[in-house]
Amino acid sequence: EVFVARVKKDDAYWAVAAVMDITDRKVKEEKLVMLATMDGLTGVFNRRHFLLLAEQEAARSKRYNKDLFFLMFDLDLFKEINDTFGHETGDRVLQDFAAICTEGLRRADIFGRMGGEEFAAIVVEANEEEAMAVAERIRKNFAEKTISRDETERHLSVSIGISRLNPKTGSLEAAYAHADKALYEAKEQGRNRVVMASR
Ligand code: GH3
Ligand code: MG
Ligand code: MG
Repeated sequence: EVFVARVKKDDAYWAVAAVMDITDRKVKEEKLVMLATMDGLTGVFNRRHFLLLAEQEAARSKRYNKDLFFLMFDLDLFKEINDTFGHETGDRVLQDFAAICTEGLRRADIFGRMGGEEFAAIVVEANEEEAMAVAERIRKNFAEKTISRDETERHLSVSIGISRLNPKTGSLEAAYAHADKALYEAKEQGRNRVVMASR
């Protein structure tokens, strides 16, 4: 940080400057922002920040009458994974899943951890087929993963519910509820699948 002042001495002007190293303050500020917006385990946005950004996207969708999709993810039978392989392995699975999603989504999309083994994404600039394809790719990539210990081997899977935000209302809340319902149907239908909410 630099301060500069002008000083007149005799008939000449002089500049006096103070240069300070504020690295510590900047690092602390960045840490605070990280803590407030990111999930500590997976490094993706936390629920609060995800919803904040999602609201902004919903408003944009309404203003420009653009399609936007809400994806809800819930890992399948995750309690069993924890019980069989331990909580630490469970944590690693959550980190792997977040990485797969980050990889499968595009830069403009928004992704966050809603809590526990539940995640959500906002897919922008896509039609229904493209949103489905994004979800399907994530589902498939995660289903290819296995975890094993001693004689026990387990496949991992995720259920995904998708809904389209109505650009007329721009209601994120409604899109959230519809995606959640579609997710519930995906579980009912046997898990490891993607369900698009009916309109
Ligand atoms: P379903 O297919 O119906 O979703 O079954 P499920 O077992 O995934 O559902 P349930 O909601 O009963 O279990 C979620 C589990 O996720 C229970 C909880 O112990 C575990 N969990 C939540 N947060 C964390 C976490 O941060 N780390 C780990 N390792 N486990 C977590
Ligand atoms: Mg759950
Ligand atoms: Mg679950």
